[in-house]
Amino acid sequence: MESKNFNNNFITEIIDDDIKNKKNNKIVTRFPPEPNGYLHIGHAKSICINFSIAEKYGGKCNLRFDDTNPLKENIEYVNSIIEDIKWLGFQWSGKPLYASDYFEQMYDFAIKLIEKGLAYVDDQTNEEIRINRGTLNTPGNNSPYRNRSIDENIKLFKKMKDGDYGDGEKVLRAKINMSSPNINLRDPIIYRILHAKHHRTDNKWCIYPMYDWAHGIEDSIEEISHSICTLEFEDHRPLYDWFLNQIKVFHPQQIEFARLNLNFTVMSKRKLKILVDNKVVAGWDDPRMPTISGLRRRGYSPESIRDFINQTGVVKRNGITDISLLEYSLRNHLNKIAQRAMAVLNPLRVVITNFPEDKTEYLDAINNPENKKDGTRLIPFTREIYIEKTDFLEDAPKKFFRLSLNKEVRLLHAYYIVCTKIIRNSQGEIIELQCEYDPKSKGGWTEDGRKVKGTIHWVSIPHSINAQINLYNRLFNNENPLDDKSNFLNNYNADSLKIIKNAKLEPNLNSAKLNFYYQFVRIGYFALDKNSSKNELFFNQSVSLRDSWSKKNKS
Ligand code: ATP
Ligand code: MG
Repeated sequence: MESKNFNNNFITEIIDDDIKNKKNNKIVTRFPPEPNGYLHIGHAKSICINFSIAEKYGGKCNLRFDDTNPLKENIEYVNSIIEDIKWLGFQWSGKPLYASDYFEQMYDFAIKLIEKGLAYVDDQTNEEIRINRGTLNTPGNNSPYRNRSIDENIKLFKKMKDGDYGDGEKVLRAKINMSSPNINLRDPIIYRILHAKHHRTDNKWCIYPMYDWAHGIEDSIEEISHSICTLEFEDHRPLYDWFLNQIKVFHPQQIEFARLNLNFTVMSKRKLKILVDNKVVAGWDDPRMPTISGLRRRGYSPESIRDFINQTGVVKRNGITDISLLEYSLRNHLNKIAQRAMAVLNPLRVVITNFPEDKTEYLDAINNPENKKDGTRLIPFTREIYIEKTDFLEDAPKKFFRLSLNKEVRLLHAYYIVCTKIIRNSQGEIIELQCEYDPKSKGGWTEDGRKVKGTIHWVSIPHSINAQINLYNRLFNNENPLDDKSNFLNNYNADSLKIIKNAKLEPNLNSAKLNFYYQFVRIGYFALDKNSSKNELFFNQSVSLRDSWSKKNKS
């Protein structure tokens, strides 16, 4: 199932060369999430790449929280990230690490940069800095504060640290080149003032390092050999290298790959947070979300997510992956492991008139035809059963192989029945079918070998249990929800959740467990929802049985 090129790609080629040239003696990677939201399927790609490289080369992979913005980060996010990585099946080296543990060193390095005449305190407002940065076609303007003396810069930077100024009053900038064709090199800001409580360092700091300054130092302190990130950081690499060259420390190699994009969803944490904050979804782990926790709650297995990521490969060109490839990986795995069960979503009552009234017959049913070791279970069969409304048509066309008047159909694991009579209410709606069964067809076959093409599922009425079923559809109507630049929420699919209140399930599902996988035969794969209790069962549809992707790709 694992695709071959995932572990051999352009990144491993670079690493192979580095090893051959004795550039590195140990391969160290890291996964560096900012704890400003829950992880999504895109992060799973970065996780798989970093951890699998560490494993391939007998090195290690750190988990490091890039917690440099106290306004957006919190401990709930930290904990969710830890849980999600473990669930995906990866283990980082040692304890989780935090950028905030390096704040002191980052500060010392900034002093070093000032002492070299390569950083200055700027009093311009954010707006002035933005305007003076110039554009892609025009060079920037030097700040009027650019030529402050080293002593003055040190004094002012210390005062920034001591809390003498308000937010936004001053920043520390690297002194590089305001007319560089690469805008990232036009005296980037390396520290800003933020009087905010940090979830780990509390009120110790009121200056916080910017990403480009912090990230290279974090990588360097941990002696990361290969700092793997997504393509949008390619233009930042000269800055990453410049900083590390100036402060003369261990210098990791930054390598960029194309991020994972999926159609019919949004992926950035900022956008996902808008969905959560606006209550468009029920939370970060709403089963419609592309978050790891959402996919888990929906009934995705870690194996299916890893398989999907492997299928997408590691490349350098941006593209959009069809979400049906993710569903394909899920069906593929669940088909092998899911326990089969019978559930009727839209029940229609059937009375088997020639079956004894007080009798319950227990029939043997196989739990998983793909894995005989999963054994069998007993299913009660009685005179009154539910079938799906859609499995009956009064005037059926020739190719309708389900139940219709005077036609025979097989009840899965049970008997053949023939419909003999239709009962309607005063509005003319069908409310009950009367049928007769053939006692000689137990198990779904007869000695005379007569052909019964259709097989339908059913549930014994007196034994059935109630459940709420949540059926899901794409979260957005539009393949690229961000097409509508004004507000991507306009592309929200109002039919993305359909609730079925009173589905009828076979009684064995009373003991359904979380983190187990079920196939409701002929319908799809389902997982018990975390909000279920003894008295109330909720099942989420993970994916339907229909497989549009493999069909599309066969021809
Ligand atoms: P987002 O925009 O969703 O907030 P981010 O890049 O800001 O993503 P981080 O927490 O900084 O989020 O990401 C941690 C790591 O995951 C980074 O190395 C980042 O490059 C990687 N990553 C984020 N999104 C994707 C994606 N869609 N595909 C692959 N890697 C990703
Ligand atoms: Mg981010």
